[in-house]
Amino acid sequence: VWNRCLQVIQENIPDQSFRTWFEPIVPLRLNGSELTIQVPSQFFYEWLEENYVHLLRKALDFAIGHHGQLQYSIIVDKGDEGSKPLTVNVPTTKSPQTAKPDNVDADILKSPFEMKDLDSLQLDSYLNPTYTFDNFIEGDCNRLGRSAGFAIAQNPGTTAFNPLMIYGGVGLGKTHLVQAVGNYIKNNNQDKFVLYVSSEKFTTQFINSIRTDSLRDFMGFYMQVDVLIIDDVQFWAGKEKTQETFFHIFNHLHGAKKQIIMTSDRAPRDLQGMQDRLQSRFKQGLTADLTQPDLETRTAIIQKKLLAEGIYIENNVIEYLAHSINTNVRELEGVIVSLMAQASLNRREIDLDLARNTLRNIIIDSEKEVTIDTVQDVVAAHFSVTVADLKSKSRKKEAVFPRQIAMFLAKDQTELSLKSIGYHFGGRDHSTVIHAIQTISDLTNTNPQLRETIDKLKSSLK
Ligand code: ADP
Ligand code: MG
Repeated sequence: VWNRCLQVIQENIPDQSFRTWFEPIVPLRLNGSELTIQVPSQFFYEWLEENYVHLLRKALDFAIGHHGQLQYSIIVDKGDEGSKPLTVNVPTTKSPQTAKPDNVDADILKSPFEMKDLDSLQLDSYLNPTYTFDNFIEGDCNRLGRSAGFAIAQNPGTTAFNPLMIYGGVGLGKTHLVQAVGNYIKNNNQDKFVLYVSSEKFTTQFINSIRTDSLRDFMGFYMQVDVLIIDDVQFWAGKEKTQETFFHIFNHLHGAKKQIIMTSDRAPRDLQGMQDRLQSRFKQGLTADLTQPDLETRTAIIQKKLLAEGIYIENNVIEYLAHSINTNVRELEGVIVSLMAQASLNRREIDLDLARNTLRNIIIDSEKEVTIDTVQDVVAAHFSVTVADLKSKSRKKEAVFPRQIAMFLAKDQTELSLKSIGYHFGGRDHSTVIHAIQTISDLTNTNPQLRETIDKLKSSLK
C-alpha cells in the first residue's frame, strides 16, 4: 500500500523533496484502512502535515480509498544522554500545535511559513575547492582526524563517525580538513547536497529567518542537506536559540543517516555555554583533535607548499624554517609567502640570510614571541662574542658560558623544542641543551648577580 502511495507522491513533487521527505518514511502497519507510517522526528511530522497533507490524502485515496486513514509514529528523542528514543502515535491532523511536545522550540511551531520549491534554489556548497586531501599533509598531529575524515569521504553518513568533531587551536588545519572531506564527497557524489557553513553564518541566517518570519524555510533548507559541515561551533557558546534550533536539525539529519561534521577550537567538554544535550551530541560519533605539527610534518608541509608555488629553495633553508616556526601551519605559510615576496622584490634567491631576516621582521611585526636569532644576537652582544662563537664547537670558557645562557633563554623565551634549539646552536643534540639549561638554572639559584644579568637580557629581548 505504501509503495502505491509513494508512486502518487513521486509523480507530484520534485525529486529532491521526495528524497528528503518521503524516502526516510518507514511504513509500519496497515490496520483495516488505517495506515501507520514512522517518521524520524516531530519536526518531520509537522512538515509533512503542513506541506503535504493534500498530497497524502490523494495518495491514500488512490492506494486505500476515501476511507483511508493515516497514523504517524514519531521517533521522539528527548535529547538527554542515555535516554532511549521512544515512539508515539499521532493521528493525522491539520493542527500540529496540539501535538507540540515540550522539547520543540515554540518559535518553530509559531512561525508561519510558506513552502518554497527548494529544488529551484541554487544549491551552493560554499566549499573552497583548493582544500583537498591531496594537499593536506598527514602527520602524527592529525592522523586520527584525517583518517576518519577520509573514511567519511568515502562513505558519508554510514560510518560510525557521525558526527565527526574536529577540534584544535588556530591554524592547525581544521577548516582545510573538513573542506577536503566536503570536496571529496561533492566530487564523487553529484546527487549529494554538501553544505559548508561557518557557525557564525548559521546564526546570522537563523536570526534573519526569525526576523523575516521564514524560520521554516530555514529549517527546511538545512534538513535537505546530505553532508552538513559546520565550522567553529565554539561561536555558539551562550547562544541558546541557535543551539536549540541546531539541535533539531542535528537530530533530524543524524536520524536520517546524513553526515554531520563540525569543528571547534576546543574539546566538546570544554565548550562552556553549550547546552549539555548538544555537547553530548557532539561526542556521539568521533572526536579527534589536531595538534601542533612535529618537525617532520612541518618539513613536509614546507616542501609541499614550495612545490605548489613552483619555487626551489635549498634544504638548509627548509630545515631552518621547520626548526624556527612551530606554532601552527598558517604561520608557516605566512612566512613562506613573505619569503617569496621578499625574494622577488629584492630580486634575490631565498637563502638562509633572507629567511632569517624575514622571520625576524614577521615576528617583530606581530609583536609575538622572541626569535632564536634575537636571543643569540642579544646574548652575543652582551658577552662581546659573536653569534658564530655561540654556534661553534669551541670549548673555550668565553664561548661556553654565553652559549649556555643563550640556550637557557631560548628555552625560556621561545616555544622551540630542545631538538630545535640544539639545531640552532650548531647542530648540538638535545641532551647538550638540557645540560646547559640545568647548569644555568642551578647557577641562578645561588648567584643573584647572574639572576640580574638574565633578567636584564630578558628585558632587552622584549
Ligand atoms: P584552522 O581552521 O584550524 O584555523 P586552517 O584549516 O585554516 O586552520 O589551516 C591554516 C592553513 O594551513 C591553511 O592554509 C591550510 O591549507 C594549511 N594547513 C593546515 N594543516 C595542513 C596540513 N596538514 N597540510 C597542508 N596544509 C595545511
Ligand atoms: Mg578554521
